[in-house]
Amino acid sequence: MIVINKASEMQVIAKSLQKQGKTIACVPTMGFLHEGHLSLIAYAREKADVVITTLFVNPTQFGPSEDFSKYPRDFENDCKLAGENGADYLFAPQEKEMYPAEFNTNIHISGVTEVFEGAFRPIHFDGVALIVAKLFGCTMPDIAVFGQKDYQQTLVIKRMIHDLNMPIEIIVMPTVRMENGLAKSSRNKYLDEKQLDKADMIHKGLLEGRKLIESGIRDRQEIDYIMAKELSKDMDFRIQYLQSAKADDLSLPDNFDKKDDIILLAAVYLGNTRLIDNELVIAR
Ligand code: AMP
Repeated sequence: MIVINKASEMQVIAKSLQKQGKTIACVPTMGFLHEGHLSLIAYAREKADVVITTLFVNPTQFGPSEDFSKYPRDFENDCKLAGENGADYLFAPQEKEMYPAEFNTNIHISGVTEVFEGAFRPIHFDGVALIVAKLFGCTMPDIAVFGQKDYQQTLVIKRMIHDLNMPIEIIVMPTVRMENGLAKSSRNKYLDEKQLDKADMIHKGLLEGRKLIESGIRDRQEIDYIMAKELSKDMDFRIQYLQSAKADDLSLPDNFDKKDDIILLAAVYLGNTRLIDNELVIAR
């Protein structure tokens, strides 16, 4: 695997690959790679001739009081894991090249960015859209692979691709979990042993919601109540949202239709660590 730090160099390589008729898959990450990231790289490996994993902890998607400066980083190990799992290139640009002093462009996507994560992290999706667009400009992919773990992010990226006529196929891969059901996340590193032990309660709550829907219940408040029932009794957890919504646009009908796919979304603080998760219930 070849590590590239400069955007211009990445573009020359991507253009040359395109000229040779090779398909390119891009897997954007913020590093500190775990099995979730690696499943995306492995899928990209199957689908495209060339796999470019990107590694950039993007400052514009973190709010001022968020964990940008302490976000876990391990460049050496990320190189090893990305290479071993099928990446041909690791594109790891410098912050000052991505955001030089003279920089005047923003991307704002309305609608789907305004609820759930967007309501609690107002600048988050502007930052995500901007960096993903820039990474696509550098890697020029045919396909890009994202994780369902960040469900709302996948809706935002799909919206952007559509609205900005970017000829890129977006693929969404299932969430990789620990044995107890906790979604793998770089931020799990912040959890101590006791917290790691009980963090699976978030997914268990989501599964209660799934069970209720599968038993035929479509009343949104009833679904939301059952998901929060156990978690809200435990003082170690602080729920930001634990709610059901229509999966396609995150709207909140009083009653879901039988034909609606439903997304169950969670953002919960465990101690000082903010964890997100979701469960997608497809209509049958
Ligand atoms: P991040 O490094 O957290 O920005 O994540 C980079 C990509 O990996 C995003 O598309 C995430 O949705 C995806 N991802 C993160 N955790 C998981 C997981 N547990 N399973 C599958 N994909 C994941």
